[in-house]
Amino acid sequence: MSETLPFDKISLLHLAFNGLTDKELQEMAAASQLCTYPPEHILCREGAYEDVFYVIAEGSAVICKIVSEQDGERVLRIAGKGDLVGEMALIQNVPRSATVRTLTDCTVLEMDKKDFETLLSRSPSMAINIIRTTLDRIRENDQIAIQDLQNTNKVLHHLDRNKLEFIQVAAHELRTPLTVLKGYVNVLNSFSELKTNPAITEVMSGIIKGADRMHEVVNTMLDVTRIDSETLKLRATPVPLKRLVVDTVHELIKASLERNIELSLEQDSDTPNINADPTLIQKAMYHLIVNAIKYTPDGGRVTLHSRPITMDKNIPGVEVSVTDTGIGLDAEHHELIFEKFYQVGDVTIHSSGKTSYKGGGPGLGLAIVRGVARAHGGKTWVESTGHDEVNFPGSTFYLQLPIDPITPAA
Ligand code: ADP
Repeated sequence: MSETLPFDKISLLHLAFNGLTDKELQEMAAASQLCTYPPEHILCREGAYEDVFYVIAEGSAVICKIVSEQDGERVLRIAGKGDLVGEMALIQNVPRSATVRTLTDCTVLEMDKKDFETLLSRSPSMAINIIRTTLDRIRENDQIAIQDLQNTNKVLHHLDRNKLEFIQVAAHELRTPLTVLKGYVNVLNSFSELKTNPAITEVMSGIIKGADRMHEVVNTMLDVTRIDSETLKLRATPVPLKRLVVDTVHELIKASLERNIELSLEQDSDTPNINADPTLIQKAMYHLIVNAIKYTPDGGRVTLHSRPITMDKNIPGVEVSVTDTGIGLDAEHHELIFEKFYQVGDVTIHSSGKTSYKGGGPGLGLAIVRGVARAHGGKTWVESTGHDEVNFPGSTFYLQLPIDPITPAA
């Protein structure tokens, strides 16, 4: 750092703090000093408690912030003549929120917080003026951040569309050869000479099971593209919800018995029928129950409960909850598990069975549940005290639906 003289401090301060009287500017100039720094000098360091603020007189500096360990630093803006940097030190006792690094030789007017506070205590009008300038700057920064978020959001939205299109193409491409394979296996299966050979029968049954499971995964992929698509049209008809829950449970009784998991039903007698798309509701129920079985150890219990409710804005609705005695979920995952492909834990531990303990899957089931809930104007969420594979705290998944679907406004 070197002391620099030939700058007019007053006109510089006037540029940074518009509206101060000559006397106030003079006082401020007296309490500040001009210094020149070489390129790459750090004026403010993110995370550090520092008490100096600067007005740039000549040269430029970059203001950047660490976004994350992987993504490193992000440039917020470039500051030049008349810009204030490190000004938050004036009004807050918090660590620096960004790093300011000189890009060129940079002459700055710098002032210590203590000297500044002494000045302020003598001049309330100066204090108000400075606060106003600083708030304007914060608002400007907010606008930049909002614009940035909007741009990032657009990119994410676009990527999400690409992902959906990829799933759709992949699922269609897989479905045709899979159907052919299943057809041939069924033909083979009808040969009586094969049926008498136990080793071949076992192999055949393995192929059929594998192909069925693959078919199911491909269908789930197609479901998620359809449900996530902005063009989804609901085919709402009267749905006897209690009946639908019973039917879905029946579909999964065998799978739960294989794992020695008790499936029990507690439906309030006044659980109303709803107007909804029965196929979609059935799919949502199916994924919730399959998950409850999958993430509960052998010998556990899964309980389904349905009841009438009043939703927000006094809208009559119905709630179905699925409670298990399984591994539970930490709070940090409660929202994210409803995103496509989001899985907790090691995704490489997969099993071919859809209800094997912690068998994993494509990570699409809950995205479908959320898509179905939203398409009807309902909501879904999970409650769990945390993940614990010793005490098994379990989880409860809720699905709330209005009696008449509320389609989102176009
Ligand atoms: P997956 O195909 O992996 O089961 P889902 O979208 O159905 O995909 O679920 C996403 C993640 O949410 C799962 O990988 C699992 O970690 C977690 N999860 C879902 N249901 C439960 C549950 N009942 N108990 C504990 N964790 C669950």
